[in-house]
Amino acid sequence: MLPIAARRTARSWNRLYREVRMVATALKSPRHPVFAHVVVTRRCNLACTYCSEFDTFSKPVPTGEMLHRIDLLARLGTTAVTLTGGETLLHPDLEKIIARIRSHGMVAVMITNGYLLSVERIASLNRAGIDRLQISIDNVNPDDVSKKSLKVLDKKLQMLAEHAEFAVHIHSVVGAGTTQPEDALAIARRAHTLGLGSSAGIVHDPTGRIQPLDERSKQVLEEIESFSKPLFSFARHNPWRKNLIEGKPNDWHCPAGGRHLYICENGLVHYCMAQRGLPAIPLEKYTQQDIDREGKAPKPCAPYCTIFCIHRVALLDRIRENPRQALVQLFPAPGSDGTEARPPLAVRALTAAFARPRGGVLRKAALRVLKID
Ligand code: SF4
Ligand code: SF4
Repeated sequence: MLPIAARRTARSWNRLYREVRMVATALKSPRHPVFAHVVVTRRCNLACTYCSEFDTFSKPVPTGEMLHRIDLLARLGTTAVTLTGGETLLHPDLEKIIARIRSHGMVAVMITNGYLLSVERIASLNRAGIDRLQISIDNVNPDDVSKKSLKVLDKKLQMLAEHAEFAVHIHSVVGAGTTQPEDALAIARRAHTLGLGSSAGIVHDPTGRIQPLDERSKQVLEEIESFSKPLFSFARHNPWRKNLIEGKPNDWHCPAGGRHLYICENGLVHYCMAQRGLPAIPLEKYTQQDIDREGKAPKPCAPYCTIFCIHRVALLDRIRENPRQALVQLFPAPGSDGTEARPPLAVRALTAAFARPRGGVLRKAALRVLKID
């Protein structure tokens, strides 16, 4: 068997290829879900006091039903699936579900609190083909609010750093509440030291609105973002978050229900975790007409929405519809009318190939390489 470093490199190139393909497909057509969050069980082995996403008794969604839901998402053209809970590792056949996602060519992501990870379970996730795993860590030391703590999880992070062939991402939050700014920084530094990815979100109130940040929290946020240096970091080019931090609403269209689907444990489609109950149509009966209609439906919650993964998909749609305007909004040239905005090369290349009405030779070549019909 190849050494772990070689296996990781091979998998990261394969993942990059499929993720570029996902973005290119989204830029090419607005009529399929780019990604879906799918609940595998509502049960959790922890009980964070701020959480409304778990219970202590639900059974896992039956494996046959889960596999059927994955097949239905693939049929709708979904390009990435994130498995969520409750606690995902409590599902006895999680690896079968991951393998099914991969068998359809979709990107497979999972969220976990990490408590149940072991060397054997990581090896099994490697074999199943998970692409990305995200752990949220709330504080350095456990407290009455949350036990998702660096002190408790550090051994698990070390195991992941040694044995995971997939990308691992550690998420923390800043702002009043569970995590002190210094805790978020300590968590991100530890992730960075171990070679794992890190990011930080901002605490919001029960209505989903971001709380204003103090100066130290803003500095910490910037420092954490500086740890990651991908080709393009949405976190560093996120004008919507900047507005919300300052208490300003955003003017954007949320494409949830079309470009993003949240599938609850009962197999119903919802816009997102925060808007459960809308439209609440069984996935079994969800059609192209539903995707088109719900994706276009106005969402009154949009101005203060903090679900930035959906902003990111909306951005792809804006780039396709009006590349110049979208890129100038993302990369404004300070002190000018934006005419000299200079997005990163990767963004310009994808835009040139897929977001223009006629990308010519470049578009045709890229479509062939990425095997997009
Ligand atoms: S670990 Fe996650 S799902 Fe479980 S209670 Fe905490 S926040 Fe909720
Ligand atoms: S605007 Fe935000 S909260 Fe509202 S449906 Fe869209 S993603 Fe969900």
